[in-house]
Amino acid sequence: MAIATLLPATTAFIQRAPRMLIGAEWVEAADGQTMPLHNPATGEQLCVVPRATVDDVDRAVLAARQAFDDSPWSRTRPRERQNLLWKLADLMQRDAELLAQLECLNNGKSAAVAQAMDVQLAIDFLRYMAGWATKIEGSSVEVSVPLMPDQQFHSFIRREAVGVVGAIVAWNFPLLLACWKLGPALATGCTVVLKPADETPLTALKLAELVQEAGYPDGVFNVVTGTGITAGAALTHNPRVDKLTFTGSTAVGKEIGKIAMDNMTRVTLELGGKSPTIVMADADLGSAAAGAASAIFFNQGQVCCAGSRLYVQRKHFDNVVADIAGIANAMKLGSGLDASVDMGPLISARQQERVWRYIEMGRDSGATLACGGERFGPGYFVKPTVIVDVDQQHSLVQEEIFGPVLVAIPFDDEADALRLANDSPYGLGASIWSNDLAAVHRMIPRIKSGSVWVNCHSALDPALPFGGYKMSGVGREMGYAAIEHYTELKSVLIKL
Ligand code: NAD
Repeated sequence: MAIATLLPATTAFIQRAPRMLIGAEWVEAADGQTMPLHNPATGEQLCVVPRATVDDVDRAVLAARQAFDDSPWSRTRPRERQNLLWKLADLMQRDAELLAQLECLNNGKSAAVAQAMDVQLAIDFLRYMAGWATKIEGSSVEVSVPLMPDQQFHSFIRREAVGVVGAIVAWNFPLLLACWKLGPALATGCTVVLKPADETPLTALKLAELVQEAGYPDGVFNVVTGTGITAGAALTHNPRVDKLTFTGSTAVGKEIGKIAMDNMTRVTLELGGKSPTIVMADADLGSAAAGAASAIFFNQGQVCCAGSRLYVQRKHFDNVVADIAGIANAMKLGSGLDASVDMGPLISARQQERVWRYIEMGRDSGATLACGGERFGPGYFVKPTVIVDVDQQHSLVQEEIFGPVLVAIPFDDEADALRLANDSPYGLGASIWSNDLAAVHRMIPRIKSGSVWVNCHSALDPALPFGGYKMSGVGREMGYAAIEHYTELKSVLIKL
């Protein structure tokens, strides 16, 4: 068993009870309140962090406001923004192991996977966004202005930073989700107040240290740790925030969207999913089974675009399900510090209980468990579970479980597969496993989701916009689409 040794820097970071960054200051909550963080693999308390008050959030927004309106940051050139973002990525690279260990201890995920994926994807994304900093363009337009026929004009359209960004993120990829927001914000010249998830603020606080070390002016990046109900809500309601960007559940996203509209705050919502994996009869079935298993079990199934609904063409249904169950049964569960472990714990006792309720619901309604259906402690573990004999309208199929639970249903033909895949309130991702090029191209435009993968699942790239149709959200992250969401257009008309 290869248990990773914690770096002295990891232990030191946790032992010194991290504080929040507001402007230039590392602070406790105004009223001194804290909240405990737990190691999901053991259930033990890791440390405490400040529980931000409404006043703390307001001070953070003010710091971001001042940095945006009236600081050297507001006058930075694109090249400086590019270089700073690249420097930040370099510092993250230097501290990649530390960041991965913090993510492992705080979230439960594998430290090795966190370093290779979460941290590396975040670094790659910041470097991709650093490139955009010098390529943000407006345009010039030849205008007619019919009411002033005898005049000449020069007219152009500027693309300007949207301003102060309030970013609220979920706990499943704490560092990566934060960087998806920080990257375009800093590339375009915005300032940011980040509210990490209640459960997982550690890498956000380390990121704030690195932002300071990179040389960003005070107030450009602020982090407030606290609860959604207090700190998240205070950020959402604050009229000094120009744009809200949220990653989390559809229920909370809807509330944030409504509040944003009251203030006309720009808003991007990255929400839940229930993504289908469709295995056509002609697919390479071995790859499809392995891909479908990884699509649902990666990160303990706590992935917004996890392939949590499996549809297999009827004649191969039993075989593919048996293969996936075999893969699931062979998975080793344990601490993310153990490099030989395939699956870690869920984020919290609450999430373990939520996932367990769905499994019980399946059992109670007569569904069959092809594998899994067990939980154990003292950490928050649930065995990878595959459920069959379940109706398309069942809650197990229609609702996001956000755990290692796959529901599998057979289909008869292409039309049937499309009907089942689209029969969901969500539309984040979908994968098609097939070697029939014509069928794949017929299906892609008919699938109602923001991403479609063919012979792979959850494959992301910084250049590809990511986001949802339907209840999976509004707007896109990554790609040039993200730059558009962090900027406003200004039309200028000069009478000559
Ligand atoms: P959540 O909605 O409970 O919490 C997300 C964040 O919102 C947390 O920081 C929380 O503190 C904050 N929050 C909670 N209540 C709030 C309120 N009233 N006002 C303001 N902020 C509030 O979600 P979660 O359980 O942390 O995350 C899981 C969800 O996130 C899943 O639905 C998953 O699909 C989704 N998710 C989506 C994406 C995507 O890109 N589409 C990525 C990751 C996770």
